[in-house]
Amino acid sequence: MESAPTRKAWSAELKIAGLVFLLVLTACLLGIATRPLGHLATIWPANALLLGLMVRYPQLARPSGWFGGIAAYIIADSATGGPPIQTLMLTLGNLVGVISAYLLLSRLSAEHRSLRSPLSVPYLALAVTLASLASGVVGAIINPLLFDGSAVAGLTLWFVTELVNYIAILPVLLTMPDWPERLKDRRQALLISRQGLVHALPAVSLVISCALSLMVGGPGAVAFAVPALLWCALSYSVFTTAWLTFAFISILLVMIAIVGIPLAPFDMNSLPMLLSLRLGITLLAFAPLTVASVMAARNKLLQHMQYMASHDQLSGLLNRWAFYEQARQQSSDANRPIALLMFDIDHFKRINDTYGHAAGDLVLKAFARLASNGLRDGDALARLGGEEFALLLPGCSHNQALVIAERIRTDYANSPTTLEDGQHVQSTVSIGAVVALQHQVDIDGLLLIADRALYQAKESGRNRVVISQYTPNEQAWTETA
Ligand code: GH3
Ligand code: MG
Ligand code: MG
Repeated sequence: MESAPTRKAWSAELKIAGLVFLLVLTACLLGIATRPLGHLATIWPANALLLGLMVRYPQLARPSGWFGGIAAYIIADSATGGPPIQTLMLTLGNLVGVISAYLLLSRLSAEHRSLRSPLSVPYLALAVTLASLASGVVGAIINPLLFDGSAVAGLTLWFVTELVNYIAILPVLLTMPDWPERLKDRRQALLISRQGLVHALPAVSLVISCALSLMVGGPGAVAFAVPALLWCALSYSVFTTAWLTFAFISILLVMIAIVGIPLAPFDMNSLPMLLSLRLGITLLAFAPLTVASVMAARNKLLQHMQYMASHDQLSGLLNRWAFYEQARQQSSDANRPIALLMFDIDHFKRINDTYGHAAGDLVLKAFARLASNGLRDGDALARLGGEEFALLLPGCSHNQALVIAERIRTDYANSPTTLEDGQHVQSTVSIGAVVALQHQVDIDGLLLIADRALYQAKESGRNRVVISQYTPNEQAWTETA
């Protein structure tokens, strides 16, 4: 009898095979539905879908997953009444392309596979060109055997059809974000509806360009959408750009197959024309995809640089500059109090002298972690320099500021830092704070008063809190400990 874990493993394999089977079967049937419209299928999404699934979700790329895909090819083609030998050869042609592309793409780094680097699209192009050539070779053999055509026609048709389908569909799958993130983005997009409208302009321009292509027609019509596609690539994520490029290619291919002239004013049965058209559309699609992936790399770099410019490297907290920026952005709501706490670790120089500079660094990090606990959105904690930190608490009253400051002071005094060699370093912190109404004083004024309170805390013995209440009429402050 089979044990429970074995049964569970079998059912998992069956689920993978079933899932891949259903998806690929749907794609095959969709492709078969477009067959009468042109040479081979106008759109043959099955190969790109199977390849995309295997590369994007490596957990599917196991024997059961591949088996599901192969079964889908065979069943879909048999269902359309093709003789078994034809079904087998077509399936072989499909698999040769998919497996060659899989072997090439699965060697790329995760960053390249998700098209987030300037060289990602050229790598993708190289992989799918080689894979389409491999399919083309099978086409060159099959065409004379099954369809009484020439080897050259088989090679050309398979190569160019595979290529255009890979370029249209694969980027969508490779750049697909995880679902929860996507839903969150959607919600945000709905919340800022006016911005959302402006955000939709590049997509709207793409729709208008496609409509113009249809209305004007002629050999240039295919290129009408280039500016709109590039605008989309500059404005949206790689995934959205890949989707729009896919939609554009699909609409164009189906329209040309149905309408033909005026969109494609040439003989659709002429092989060189078909080759030229599909190759042209493929190369056109590279433009938005390349721009979108370069933009993704640029945005990531910008984010990184922005982070580096606004954060202190050792503690990970805001730096002095970013702290000032955030403080200045606080709205001056007249009735809202604001508290500023300044921290200075006591006798920190002694820690460096006794345990070494690296130990001092560990203590600074430990303090940063402890002070970050329990902060709300809008609170700003920064390392102003050396062993000095500042915490801005908008909407915080005198009593609340006192409670928070005392909590940090006592927590820190009771949490010695453990060094790498197991030694414990215990130290204390002095805190100077000020509470004011937001319209009364600017950040420079707050820092000045908090600094004086901190000096008082040091003078009166360290390891204590001194809070100043700002009183504008007297241009002075009163202190409470
Ligand atoms: P007080 O109680 O009066 O604040 O005395 P203190 O020793 O803490 O103050 P002092 O300003 O004399 O010394 C601060 C020391 O902090 C001196 C400096 O070498 C050290 N320091 C500044 N930045 C860093 C850093 O990034 N890492 C380490 N380990 N030490 C630093
Ligand atoms: Mg100091
Ligand atoms: Mg100090």
